[in-house]
Amino acid sequence: NLHSNAQPMNVAVIGTGYVGLGTAALLAHIGHTVTGIDISEEKIAMLQRAEVPIHEPGLDDLLASVQSRLTWTTRYDAVASADVVFICVGTPPGPDGTPDLQYVVSAAASIAPHLNGHTQVIVNKSTVPIGTGDYVTRLLEEHSVTFSAERHAVVSNPEFLREGTALHDSLYPDRIVLGGTPEAVAHMTRLYAPLIEQTFVAPASAPRPEAYTRPAVVKTTLQSAEMIKYAANAFLALKISFANEIAGLSERVGADIEEVMTGIGMDTRIGSRFLNAGLGWGGSCFGKDTQGLISAGREHNYDMPILQAAVTVNYRQRQDVLQKLIRQLRTLKGKRIGMLGMAFKPDTDDLRDAPAHDLIERLHALGATVVAHDPVAMPRASREWAHLTYQEAGSIEEAFDRADAVIVATEWTDYRTLDWNALTPRMRRPLIIDARNIIRDPIDAQVEQIGRDAPTADPITAE
Ligand code: NAD
Repeated sequence: NLHSNAQPMNVAVIGTGYVGLGTAALLAHIGHTVTGIDISEEKIAMLQRAEVPIHEPGLDDLLASVQSRLTWTTRYDAVASADVVFICVGTPPGPDGTPDLQYVVSAAASIAPHLNGHTQVIVNKSTVPIGTGDYVTRLLEEHSVTFSAERHAVVSNPEFLREGTALHDSLYPDRIVLGGTPEAVAHMTRLYAPLIEQTFVAPASAPRPEAYTRPAVVKTTLQSAEMIKYAANAFLALKISFANEIAGLSERVGADIEEVMTGIGMDTRIGSRFLNAGLGWGGSCFGKDTQGLISAGREHNYDMPILQAAVTVNYRQRQDVLQKLIRQLRTLKGKRIGMLGMAFKPDTDDLRDAPAHDLIERLHALGATVVAHDPVAMPRASREWAHLTYQEAGSIEEAFDRADAVIVATEWTDYRTLDWNALTPRMRRPLIIDARNIIRDPIDAQVEQIGRDAPTADPITAE
């Protein structure tokens, strides 16, 4: 798969979560030899058995196709022969919103003793506060006797993949951001040559989009690259909150948020993506990264009111959806509520900061019985959400059985394509809180959506 001018390199990937696995699969696919390292013995044992610990469409096929260039281990020895070492460990938010760097620090401390006499670039792919690249350099210096500024350098190469479409996003990125010294960045452009020039064979599980040519390479300082990641996520998060804020007012004045956002999104200065009104964002990144940026501002005594507002609007949205339900049912005591979707978005089993979590928690606190369904995340939820009280729906039908209302919390394709009229007769009361605006045509039920009246038999169509 390698481009004729590209040299295969040895790569170590530290952390085999969503980002590490995607990175390992991508680099092996473009011809490099990759060792994936994780401290979780359970994850490594699964990977060694060719099982993929996360749900990501197409990832199992891609990993299987490049297994001859992939090794999984809990040991750091492979760092010694690596030309590039990627740090892809988690950076979860601490209690005050500041990212917890303990995994990055321990990864750096484990890498350091294995650094060798040849040129080695250590890449921060984890999302880390601005200044962490320099901090990692200092940690490597401290923990390594072989560290030399001529041969070893830290590069920031932030990750922009979206869970659910990770393969597509990694193979066909809009841009590759590389922050660091010119020499270290040049080393990285050699590693990524087949990706930058798009000379690899597109895998069957992620074909190259027709219009796609090649990614832009953005070369910056370490600090700018670290800021680009936060600023990009913050901007996307505030687009979603903006749509939700306009949706709240649209409901009150009789405008339809779907029409409004179609109308504004067609302005190329605005763009139509990330303007969907609904339950707001969730997941491991937007909440954490907006808080991370706000806490960086706080450290410098600098208010960030736009981001603060985006966060407030996002979490208010979860409360507002519940209010819609309470307005209809008066009280939730003794009511049975079906929940469609638990993952924070479709095509992933990731439950971090999922809106469904807060809804289940509040519904239970208000006396309702929640019967929740998700096409893939239910087994994970039974482990990670053991502190919540809800019943698992064995099937989509069960979420409707005798329900006083059903809430759509995640816009899985399985739900978009439901035969609603076949399901609503199972309910005690046919009330659907469609918090993702997926129902397009009128159904035999009362439907409450975000920022719009329910679809009518005679919708107004845009010309
Ligand atoms: P994750 O929690 O899925 O995976 C992290 C992995 O690192 C875990 O398997 C953990 O066991 C391992 N780990 C922790 N400490 C380690 C150590 N010292 N040595 C080896 N392994 C160690 O996390 P993720 O979702 O892949 O995110 C990783 C980073 O990438 C975060 O900073 C995140 O903000 C960023 N990011 C994530 C996404 C996404 O969509 N998930 C997108 C862009 C950026």
